[in-house]
Amino acid sequence: MGTDLVQITTAEKVQPEEVRAGARTASTLGNGKTFYIETFGCAMNVHDSEKVAGTLAARGYRPVDNHDEADLILYNTCSIREKAAEKVFSRLGMLQKAYRNNPKIIGVLGCVAQQEGEGIFERAPQVRLVCGSASYTKLPSLLDELEAGKRRITGLGLETEECFETELTRRDNPFRAYLTIIEGCDQRCAFCVVPMTRGPERSRPSDRILAECRRLVDDGYTEIQLLGQIVNAWKDSSPARLSFAELLARVAEIAGVRRVRFATSHPRYFTSDIVQAIDSHPALCDQVHLPVQSGSTRILARMLRGYTREEYLEKIDCIRHARRAISISTDIIVGFCGETPEDFEQTMTLLDVVEYDQVFSFKYSRRPRTAAGWGDTVPEEEKAARLAALQDRQRQIQLRRNQALVGQKLEVLVESYQPRLGQAVGRTSSNRIINFPGAPAWVGRYMDVRVTGAGPHSLVGVEDGREGGSGDGTN
Ligand code: SAM
Repeated sequence: MGTDLVQITTAEKVQPEEVRAGARTASTLGNGKTFYIETFGCAMNVHDSEKVAGTLAARGYRPVDNHDEADLILYNTCSIREKAAEKVFSRLGMLQKAYRNNPKIIGVLGCVAQQEGEGIFERAPQVRLVCGSASYTKLPSLLDELEAGKRRITGLGLETEECFETELTRRDNPFRAYLTIIEGCDQRCAFCVVPMTRGPERSRPSDRILAECRRLVDDGYTEIQLLGQIVNAWKDSSPARLSFAELLARVAEIAGVRRVRFATSHPRYFTSDIVQAIDSHPALCDQVHLPVQSGSTRILARMLRGYTREEYLEKIDCIRHARRAISISTDIIVGFCGETPEDFEQTMTLLDVVEYDQVFSFKYSRRPRTAAGWGDTVPEEEKAARLAALQDRQRQIQLRRNQALVGQKLEVLVESYQPRLGQAVGRTSSNRIINFPGAPAWVGRYMDVRVTGAGPHSLVGVEDGREGGSGDGTN
């Protein structure tokens, strides 16, 4: 979800107790130094940055909101498509110019770090730390070396069985707490760099996950999003040996948890017990993100996705037969090597058959060490034309599906308020955005809203009941 490129500048929000706990354990390592971290890419990167920020806070570093005030600048990067990776180098070029006379400690983290490795020092000589996500557990010792004055440090090992566990996590979203349950990826999709940049799959045991959920509830969070590149490939290494569906149910049963989401699911591991868990646990949101990538079985085989169009449609059928309406979103790549107009047409007809509630669509971007020898055969203009056609068709479908909700009463969590418009902005369980006349004090509350209008990307409505009180979503 939100799999399109996002760029997030992590604002200065450390949980107060955590800051205090951090200050206690900090010793003088960070010496009151400041850091600024900018994040590119998926929700997993956003959450990794929250944990990196917690690690730094525990060493006495203080977060700041801009490059100028920072002693340490970190970019947590994404290399899923070429443009995302190039953006990082253009940022590093800007830093080089801006701080020529006032050098800062600059670090590159995440997927570009892993992919480019020490080559980053050549292209951006001011960089002193290069660390991939599979080496985040080593961050404290890498920081020790950096603080001791070592010029260049790398953390690039991929062979690990460890997950990145931190005592402190700085959480930037006041409503939704991210929680990684599985890291890395063992799939070998022919388009994807993730197995090369994030290392092998490793799952956290259920007892740790559930303990973290309970802590989050104690901290006032009511919505939890479980994360993993292939979240439903999670395997329990604890004696409880829970299945993924059982884990979902156990999280949803924790008193105080009101919403649970999970991403990203792979169709191969999407089983009917997940749908049954959603049906029987109201706290599991009415939403499944199930990336299909292509509607053509021939292209799916070339992509090494491990399912056919028909097998994918069986999973969709299972979701559509749930007792409650579940919204379905997906990811689609257009112009994968060898995709003919007929293959693309299969993707277009899939849109009509499934009627997705949301689609994240991308032009194929060939990545290093992927594609099992395939080329990049579809011309750029053709990819652009296919993407536009697909987005146009999907816009019409979304408009129809959203309009069908007019008149319904939906529970929303108010996430923000727009003073200029006097509008509250909320999110439904099905992950739709809804705008309605409101007040700043409503932010963080769960409210019932009657849908009065719909566009392809959001709804409008009016308040139709509200649960008062505090601590119901705010922190
Ligand atoms: N792990 C998830 C899976 O396999 O379904 C997807 C994670 S990826 C970060 C998010 C999305 O980016 C993918 O689902 C895919 O649609 C898109 N993507 C990945 N590699 C791509 C590439 N080389 N070119 C264009 N889009 C790509």
